[in-house]
Parts: sequence; structure tokens; C-alpha cells
Amino acid sequence: MPGRVAMPKQPPGERRKNFREVALGLTPELAVAEARRCLQCKNPPCVTGCPVQVPIKEFIGLIGQGDPAAALKRIREKNLLPAICGRVCPQEVQCEAKCVWAKKGEPIAIGALERFAADHGAADAAQPGRAVASEASPAPAASTARPSRARVAVVGSGPAGLTAAAELARHGYRVTVFESLHAAGGVLRYGIPEFRLPKSVLDAELDGLRRLGVEIECDVVVGQTVTLEDLWAEGFRAVFVGTGAGLPHFLGVAGENLNGVYSANEFLTRANLMRAYEFPETDTPIRTGRRVAVVGGGNVAMDSARTALRLGAEQVMIVYRRSREELPARREEVENAEEEGIEFRFLQAPTRILGDERGQVVGLEVQRMELGEPDASGRRRPVPVPGAEEVIPVDTVISAIGQGPNPLFIRYTPGLATTAGGQIAVDENGETSLRGVFAGGDIVTGAATVILAMGAGKEAAHQIHRRLEGQL
Ligand code: FAD
Ligand code: SF4
Repeated sequence: MPGRVAMPKQPPGERRKNFREVALGLTPELAVAEARRCLQCKNPPCVTGCPVQVPIKEFIGLIGQGDPAAALKRIREKNLLPAICGRVCPQEVQCEAKCVWAKKGEPIAIGALERFAADHGAADAAQPGRAVASEASPAPAASTARPSRARVAVVGSGPAGLTAAAELARHGYRVTVFESLHAAGGVLRYGIPEFRLPKSVLDAELDGLRRLGVEIECDVVVGQTVTLEDLWAEGFRAVFVGTGAGLPHFLGVAGENLNGVYSANEFLTRANLMRAYEFPETDTPIRTGRRVAVVGGGNVAMDSARTALRLGAEQVMIVYRRSREELPARREEVENAEEEGIEFRFLQAPTRILGDERGQVVGLEVQRMELGEPDASGRRRPVPVPGAEEVIPVDTVISAIGQGPNPLFIRYTPGLATTAGGQIAVDENGETSLRGVFAGGDIVTGAATVILAMGAGKEAAHQIHRRLEGQL
């Protein structure tokens, strides 16, 4: 049995200096070879690992037959954003973890094949534009069959909101997406960098949505620019809230207000949304120092570190209080970061940020840790080693230790119940304490994944439809 094909990538020495996509995508030859490794299991376990139940075996079979357009069509029955999911889903803990070949350490490269179908399927079908735009256009039977054309508002244009909007539009609803930033996409736009998810891929997905008749209004903060009451008065009959987990957690150590300290949220927003990576073509630069410490071990930390490197930092290190085994970031992205020269300082927790007389960061004091008993998350708890402190000379500190729920909509919407963690509370149908207002994605679950947010958006659309049809 041939082994799993390797994803072609830009060489590390080259890619660390540019923002072009790192993973280049499978060639048709590689894709067919990989697809033909699939055993076409009678009861495929891979699909049980996919939160939206993409028909994996079937679409891989179609790629194996040299028909990516048909494969893309099958994927789209369940997943509206395959070009994005193929690139950023943590397949190694989802579908690929369940593949029978995983036991031998060589699961079928399901994510790479999904991306291949999305990137090549539309072109093969000789459709104008890119994958999503062309494939999303043919509305399913539901759109013509539904008499109801009620207006539905979607608050937030991340994967939860976009998926809810697409599903509702396919059912014939008139959907308007309100986004507080000046461009749509949520974390897909402002968080995940160009070298992992090119903006052109997202733009194609948004074009597809517009072709379904969805209107997207940016620069509108629902709760402030318009309130929920205004939406009802304008004739919206239901609302989906997918406002995400965009509120950064802070380190809570002395020196956090010094110049040169960023939250990852701010750093990545300025780099991605404000396109600092294209300076001087854009007029919004960001100051990245020479020696950068990124605190945290998740995808956000990896993205921040690799962005800082590409913006010109000479030395970039990840400071993480647990060990390599506990790193929550995608394994592939950790490997990519290492190949690019990002240093990892494990079992170190920040205790203080030091500054000079001008208020500029000059160092990060860290405390050495060791792992104790497992905590509530099941991971071994980091415990300080007394007397083992050290100062790392750095001029920039980026804090990437997690995000909480975006508070804006919640704060300005009276009567909206929240959980103890500040997320929007929903019932088993995804409906909030306010009738007709549904919510899903990170604003309900806390910071999670793209595909889970999409799954929530899809389910909420289904429940909104039931509510508007009087079935709920
Ligand atoms: P978001 O994507 O956060 O979108 C919410 C949107 O709502 C935002 O655009 C926000 O501006 C808007 N909004 C908020 N309040 C209002 C308001 N009052 N009015 C109007 N608009 C409003 N997941 C993966 O699966 N794989 C990855 O590789 C991965 N990498 C990540 C890297 C980074 C840097 C980050 C931050 C997250 C990453 N994630 C990854 C997580 C994933 O992106 C999120 O789980 C997902 O985007 C959540 O989707 P969402 O639609 O719930 O919210
Ligand atoms: Fe193919 Fe693996 Fe799924 Fe079986 S489990 S159908 S081999 S991808």
C-alpha cells in the first residue's frame, strides 16, 4: 500500500519572508493517487469524525475517478465552505483521526482532498469564477418550494453567520448580514493570516453568498448602530447572532501597558484586516520589534508568531506554560512554525514585562513550570518551580492566551440571558431567551473551530425556518 502523499509546500527559507500561501495544494496526479488509497469502507468511520457529516468516502471516490467537479458537488451538500475547511479544519483530530489508516499513522489526507475538490472542481466544471461562487449558485429544491420570504437578520459574518445566511437564503428567506468591521468574514478575515487562508478564497465564498441573494452590510454594530428593536421595526422576523469570541484575555501581569505589548487579536487584526503585511502599498503599518515573544500555544499563538516573523522580526519565540504534548494548536501548524524557525520555550509562564525609561518593552520575565496532576481540562496542570525565574530580552510581547465572548451585542440587548462565562445562553433549539433570536458559534460555545461554528449556523437556520413556519 503506498504511503500518504505529502502536501507540496513553499520551502521554509522562502516562505518565512512572504505572506503567500504555505501549502500549495495537491496536483491532480497527487490527488488521484491519494484518493485511490481510500479503501471505500462499507461503513466509513471517517464521516463520524466530521461535525457536518461530509460524504467523505463518496467525494474521495469521485476524485479517484478524476471528477473533482462531481466531488465538490457532493461535498457542498453538507459543507458550504469546503475551500476554507479543507485548509483550516483540524482534520487530524476529526475525520482523519477516525480513518482506518490512522491506526498505521497514515490516514487518508481528507482535508487536502477536500481543498483539492474546492480549488479544482469549479474550474473543471467550466464555471465562471471560483469554486464557491459557481457551486453555491444552484439553489436546492427547498429555495423554490418555500412560500415564505420573511426577512432574517444575521449579526456577524464569521463562519457561523455566513453558514446560517446561506442556509436561510437557500430556503428562500431574504437575509441581511450585519458586520461591525469594514469587511466580512469574521476570524477568517481578521484572524487567520493570508499564508494559511488567502483572502481571495474567502472573497469567492462571499461572492457565492451574494449570488444566493444575501445582502452584507459592513460597518454596522448591532446593539449600537442599530438595535434589536430597530431590526424588528424594519420588518425582520428572526435574528441569528454569531458574534464570536473576539474579546482578548489579558496576561494580568505587571508591565502589560508598556509600548510593544499587543493582544494577538489587535496584532492579527492590524496585520490581516488592515493589511499591514502589504505596507507600503497600504497606509496602515504595524510595528514589529526585532525580538518577539508570543505567549500561548494555540492556533492564535502560531499565527501571531509566524506573522511577526514575516513582518521582519529577527527572533520569534513561543512561550508556553505546558509542554509540547499539550500544545492546542494544529500539529501541522506547529510543524510549519518550527520549520520556519520559530523557537519554542516550553514550561515557562510570564510573570512580568519589563520596560525602559521610555515605556518600551525590554524583557519578559518568565517562571519555569513543571507538570502536576491533571486539571479540569484533563491536561496536566503547570506548577511553578520555586526560584526558577529568568528574563528573556525581547522588545515585543504578544499575548495569545485565549478570547472571551464579544460583549457588544449582549451589552446593548436588554433581556438577553447569558451563561456564567458570559456567552449567550441558548435552549436545545439554539434560541436565546428572546423569542425569535437564535445564536450559535463561538458566542455560544466559547472559542472553538470553524467547522463547529458552521455546524451551529446550519442548525440555527433550520430552527429559524421551523420557528417561522410555526413548527417550533
Ligand atoms: P467569528 O469568526 O469570530 O465572527 C464573528 C463576527 O461577528 C466578527 O466578524 C465580528 O466583527 C462580528 N460582530 C461581533 N459583534 C458584532 C455586532 N454587535 N454587530 C455586528 N457584527 C458583530 N479554527 C479552526 O477550525 N482552524 C483554525 O486553523 C483556526 N485558526 C484560528 C486562528 C485565529 C487567529 C483565531 C482567532 C481563531 C482560529 N480558529 C480556527 C477558530 C475559528 O476561527 C473560530 O472558532 C470561528 O471563526 C468562530 O466563528 P464565529 O462565526 O462564531 O465567529
Ligand atoms: Fe476512506 Fe479512511 Fe474514510 Fe475508510 S475511513 S472511507 S479509508 S477516508
